[in-house]
Amino acid sequence: MSTWAILTDITKCIGCENCVAACKEINHTGKDQPWRWQKSIDSLSAARWTTIIKKPDHHFIRQQCRHCLSPACVSVCPVGALKKTPEGPVIYDPKLCIGCRYCMMSCPFGIPRYTWSDPTPYVRKCIMCYQKIKNGEIKEPACIKACPTHATIFGDRDALLAEARKRINEKPGRYINRVWGEHEVGGTSVLYVSDISLDFLSWEKDLPQEPLPGRVFDVLEKVPKIFVGMGLGMYGVYWIIERRERLMNKGAGKSDKSDRSDKSDQSKR
Ligand code: SF4
Ligand code: SF4
Ligand code: SF4
Repeated sequence: MSTWAILTDITKCIGCENCVAACKEINHTGKDQPWRWQKSIDSLSAARWTTIIKKPDHHFIRQQCRHCLSPACVSVCPVGALKKTPEGPVIYDPKLCIGCRYCMMSCPFGIPRYTWSDPTPYVRKCIMCYQKIKNGEIKEPACIKACPTHATIFGDRDALLAEARKRINEKPGRYINRVWGEHEVGGTSVLYVSDISLDFLSWEKDLPQEPLPGRVFDVLEKVPKIFVGMGLGMYGVYWIIERRERLMNKGAGKSDKSDRSDKSDQSKR
């Protein structure tokens, strides 16, 4: 079966935020409600599942869940609220979520957010418009359809990897020779090509190539999660938290400060 994927080409993005608006509309996420610790309203939030990071050099970088091929968030969820679909998108069932926030701690990209304005806060993130595509209501994610420059496109992962390589090979002077998401943490379904480093999107070089939950995922698949999820899952969580702290200490004073502070604020969201 083919794996659904998204390829975002940073060189084509004009920062119009049509993708952000389309996502908000189709998912009825409501108005942005920035918390006092947020540096800007354009951070990911429970009401903003995709966003555009604006760099001073006029680069616009789309941020969203990477839909990991072996997602750490799925492996640590003690009640199975997060699920990896056979087609690739990582989705969740808000009715099962108990608000433990393990997924927030485990995600190497700092993606999941919570609806803190609700009395019972639940996890929120991009779901690649899974159900609506599955039901045949739409043919591609709303954010993709809304993009006027085709900076972000949808398709089969292998085909998009080939397209990414083609662009790099045809214009080697334009792109960095790397497809972000091809191998990191076992590969992701959201891929990037770019003319600038995307380390600030948590793609730093120390990300392992093998899946993060590899040491615990097989066990968790076979044993009731409620009993083992917390203990075993936290082993992987420890590695990620430790790495994040290391990167934040190292990154102090860099130009990507606002994105880092966004990630560091997650523990509050
Ligand atoms: S990017 Fe984070 S939230 Fe998205 S699938 Fe991967 S681990 Fe889960
Ligand atoms: S794929 Fe769907 S849920 Fe994800 S950012 Fe795009 S519109 Fe939003
Ligand atoms: S709609 Fe396309 S061009 Fe506009 S911000 Fe989103 S990805 Fe960039």
